[in-house]
Amino acid sequence: MKIELLAPAGSFEKAKIALLYGADAVYCGTPKLSLRSRSELTEDDLFKTVQYAHNIGKKVYVAINIYAWDETYDEIKAQVRILKDIKVDGIIVSDGGVVETIKEVAPEIEIHISTQANTVSWHTCNFWYKNGAKRIILGRELSKIQLKEIMENKPKDLQIEIFGHGALCFAYSGRCFLSEFLTGRSGNLGDCAQSCRWAYNIYVEETNNPGNIMPIETDENGTYIFSSKDLCLISEIPEIVNMGINSLKIEGRLKTEYYLATVVNSYRKALDDYMKDPEKFNYKKYLIELEKTKTRGLTTFFFNDRNNKDFQDLSGRQYNPNYEFGGKILKTLEDGRTLIEIKNKLTIGDTLELIVPGQIDPVVFKINKLWDDETNEEINTINPGKLEQKVILNIPTDSKEDWILRRKKV
Ligand code: SF4
Repeated sequence: MKIELLAPAGSFEKAKIALLYGADAVYCGTPKLSLRSRSELTEDDLFKTVQYAHNIGKKVYVAINIYAWDETYDEIKAQVRILKDIKVDGIIVSDGGVVETIKEVAPEIEIHISTQANTVSWHTCNFWYKNGAKRIILGRELSKIQLKEIMENKPKDLQIEIFGHGALCFAYSGRCFLSEFLTGRSGNLGDCAQSCRWAYNIYVEETNNPGNIMPIETDENGTYIFSSKDLCLISEIPEIVNMGINSLKIEGRLKTEYYLATVVNSYRKALDDYMKDPEKFNYKKYLIELEKTKTRGLTTFFFNDRNNKDFQDLSGRQYNPNYEFGGKILKTLEDGRTLIEIKNKLTIGDTLELIVPGQIDPVVFKINKLWDDETNEEINTINPGKLEQKVILNIPTDSKEDWILRRKKV
């Protein structure tokens, strides 16, 4: 059975990149439909995304995963009617009241129970199935032993989705008010400021000695008491496929197109390669690619061991790779040169890597010439000074619109 690769779409452009690099489906939210996160699509963009995805045989799921107050229900009904008209493939929901509303207003749309609902047992899967769920997005806190038990005991046609890659929430699958308290940005509305990854100053005062305030510090780097590494289950693809998981989700609606191209392409290739020849599967080459994105260190979290303590990095370090977003291909010109939109400074002599959809090894080359996109004059360097700054260069292989270039930092 084919497992779905599901990627985030923080915009129409990001949805296109995720689908181009091999996602079978994308998920998103919508601001017009009002649940406020910065990572949500306009209604117009959502319509374009669904049209685009359906034209190439792929799917779009939309989150309405708030816990709703009574006064929100008129708005939720209006939202669901719009999603019905747009013909989205599924709605991601946490709240039983919203589930009932979808069943009433748009019974033809699949209901996917959000990870925010914290489903961690087949008993709860049964409950949601009886109440209309087509799919459960399980909590991230499960081990593979627990996942297998759920797969063996859940209703046969209930689909199971798990998180495979991306930021881990230090709280229990998003049940956290830290970000909302400190910044007004709610983790429960998909707009977390990741406050658990910040450095904190902690002090204790001895009761019998008021005024004697002592700092508590992890080390000289600061005190990162909550900071989680990022989830990466690329090494566990054989287990995930063999236990019959229906959908593998990549987290990160706020991530860049570069991140999406790298991560989606790596998981797409890993899944396809494993399905083609399980004996030869070796996750390391995909991991090399994944490590070219910025992370906080990678962990398999509780997948292999519920007692794993190695999912935090108390140094608070960001693993900034030697790579960054170079640019996006706009088109190949008649003379064979390539027009790109740049995302970071490019200079003659820089090493670029072209991320080719469906190919794990990028095409590596050095910039030998650059041309101004308006005057066609040769230039030595260019900065992304203005919005949608473009430049012309030579790429030593065929390339297509929207393919992504990464730049090796010198
Ligand atoms: S602040 Fe951290 S623990 Fe809280 S919702 Fe955000 S990622 Fe999760």
